Amino acid sequence: MKNVLITGGSRGIGAACVEEFSKNGYRVFLNYNKSGEAAEALRERTGCVMIKADISNSADVSRMIEKIHEYGKIDVLVNNAGIAEQKLFSDITEDDWDRMFNINMKGMFLVTKAVLPDMIYKKSGKIINFSSVWGISGASCEVHYSASKAAVIGFTKALAKELGLSGINVNCIAPGVIDTDMNSHLDDETRKELCDETPLSRFGTARETARLALYLASKDADFITGQIISPNGGLII
Ligand code: NDP
Repeated sequence: MKNVLITGGSRGIGAACVEEFSKNGYRVFLNYNKSGEAAEALRERTGCVMIKADISNSADVSRMIEKIHEYGKIDVLVNNAGIAEQKLFSDITEDDWDRMFNINMKGMFLVTKAVLPDMIYKKSGKIINFSSVWGISGASCEVHYSASKAAVIGFTKALAKELGLSGINVNCIAPGVIDTDMNSHLDDETRKELCDETPLSRFGTARETARLALYLASKDADFITGQIISPNGGLII
């Protein structure tokens, strides 16, 4: 049985990943930070192992990996946890900037670094990092989010080059607008505008995005590495 660690598995795309990987025979380690009840509900439904850790805190990350090692080594890492925030650039404070990068980028660095020895030992592994279309094209009023997600793309490409000889694939999913809590603040008019801008005229679902992660983790994707794959309904082409 393969072991997968899904960061931010309590809600949205991460929760859909927990469901899809569980259904497909993986032992799932669900990382969460604040949403303990949602994580518990998923644990009851899927039998996953839930682990509380703030991924931007290195001590939390070390404890999380120690706990996973009570079961075995990690084969697949889904670096999904992330935050977003809409603000004019002039209103972004230094704290906002640090929080965004600490979770979206430093958290990914800490978790990946902690998991890598398992994969290098086995000379195999799959790492799937979540960026965003806004990391490719940039979004107005989301400069810190867009910059952090662009960093994820550079991180993915560079790490893929470094880890190829170790038999480890590193890829990036850069979704368009997906119907999760992250977009629950949008009013009807903004939702409609975003749908109108999307050739397929709708938001994507968390399940569709999770199925792509499942594919990238599979043997069928063994020759894919260093790629940025964007399920976005045609929003950017
Ligand atoms: P949600 O806001 O629905 O869920 C975010 C998840 O991240 C939660 O499970 C949350 O856990 C977790 N998380 C946040 N901070 C931390 C932390 N410090 N430590 C551990 N976990 C944390 O987001 P989505 O599911 O929509 O997004 C998932 C990923 O996809 C993100 O990286 C996002 O940037 C990206 N993405 C999403 C898009 C969208 O339209 N939804 C579009 C493009 C990219 P908890 O609640 O337990 O704290």
